[in-house]
Amino acid sequence: MLKISRLRAGLPHRMILDGIDLAIAPGEVHVVMGPNGSGKSTLAHVMMGKSDYLVHEGSISLDGNELISLPTWQRAQAGLFLAMQDPIEVPGVTTAAAIAAALLSRGVAASDLPVLLEEERIKVGLGKEFLDRSLNVDLSGGERKRNETVQLAVIKPKYAILDEIDSGLDVDALSLISRRIEHATQEWNLGVLAITHYKRLLNELKVDGVHVMVKGRIVESGGPELAAALDRSGYSEYLD
Ligand code: ADP
Ligand code: MG
Repeated sequence: MLKISRLRAGLPHRMILDGIDLAIAPGEVHVVMGPNGSGKSTLAHVMMGKSDYLVHEGSISLDGNELISLPTWQRAQAGLFLAMQDPIEVPGVTTAAAIAAALLSRGVAASDLPVLLEEERIKVGLGKEFLDRSLNVDLSGGERKRNETVQLAVIKPKYAILDEIDSGLDVDALSLISRRIEHATQEWNLGVLAITHYKRLLNELKVDGVHVMVKGRIVESGGPELAAALDRSGYSEYLD
């Protein structure tokens, strides 16, 4: 179980997350939607331990182990994965090398890594050349999202936070990527926290809970019908 309790966090001079509670069981998909600037990416970064942010209160635990005091790499080893909204460029490190290092640090001997990489890049329609190019350098938005999905599929974390994995994707890529993630929830019981603005992500990804975040709080939770309603009428009813 990935469990967030009473989480209050933000910048040294500004609270951004103002009491978040969320629980994700293995194999479940939970979606967070909300207006720009409501704190969705901050939640993703705080969960992964980005050092810009301070946690003032609350807990983030994975299978009962508290993550808050751990550095990012130990959270990753514990089974947490973040697909960033804007994946960073890492000149000089290829995608294949980054994935190999991630597996090695988890003690996974991936002798079949080239085969796995080949299978997974084909599933999301990523060209072969990208595996040997520097991570995210000069990739288009859509290529970066496919690339993140390949990393996710090969590393096989317990839980994945997907920060707008659907932004910048054409409909065909969206379909491939959401199908791959849906399959992962069955294949190894991946738990997912997906941040999105669009219900179209949920066409092929079966959702267990939809949560509306406004000004650093979850103001409503529901099922897929909530995503459809938000997609239709926006957030105005929550904003004043
Ligand atoms: P969302 O992803 O929901 O659009 P963010 O979590 O990115 O929102 O941002 C929430 C608010 O906190 C925004 O007003 C943003 O400008 C601010 N913020 C987040 N991180 C930082 C940071 N490192 N420095 C300054 N402001 C930040
Ligand atoms: Mg964001």
